[in-house]
Amino acid sequence: MPIEGMKPVRAAAAAVAAMREAVGPDIDIMVDCHARPSPAMGLKFGKALDDFGLYFFEEPCWPEAVDGLAKINAALTTPVASGERVTNLEAFKDMFEKRAVEICQLDITHCGGLSAAKRIAALAEAHRIALAPHNPQGPVSTAASLEFGFSQPSYIICETVHNDVPWRQDVVEEGFTIETKGRIVRPNTEPGLGITINEAEVKKHPFQQEIVLREFSPDGAVTDW
Ligand SMILES: [Mg+2]
Repeated sequence: MPIEGMKPVRAAAAAVAAMREAVGPDIDIMVDCHARPSPAMGLKFGKALDDFGLYFFEEPCWPEAVDGLAKINAALTTPVASGERVTNLEAFKDMFEKRAVEICQLDITHCGGLSAAKRIAALAEAHRIALAPHNPQGPVSTAASLEFGFSQPSYIICETVHNDVPWRQDVVEEGFTIETKGRIVRPNTEPGLGITINEAEVKKHPFQQEIVLREFSPDGAVTDW
């Protein structure tokens, strides 16, 4: 189990302190550990950051370590969020029953689409767990995630990307409006997902393979850094 000592913990606390000083008390800050720490280290990070009043603390440890996640969530005043790597209703059920999270970050492109997401969100609602869809994806997933979020009573916030490529706005007309303070605060008024794909513009940007990430731990195990 990776136990890295206090140096990275102090660095994280210093980084969040600098962020808080830069933005003041009225801007919400979220921290994402991207599921890299062990449960023991995730707890150390969480304790060190708890007094900064984070909006939520994301994936403080491996999502399959549900008992560890639950221990971290119970030990902090900061709400713990997780779920982007969880792919089925049964695994979400374990997570909710053990109160491993306060925020469910299902990803509609991982968990089985809108029908599966609806079941998971209903289960989260029954546990009084908030919904914050994970979505670092393209415009179709973004539209679906936003519309899905607006349809759910426990929806609080949705991850979106707007400037991943400079031509993003050329290939699609998005139905939502970014309003005051960069927020999308209401569903679109167009039919369906409210997006129109510009096929001619899409053809100007054929598929290109990104660099394939192949990361391995020192012991040879496949990892995600
Ligand atoms: Mg994440």
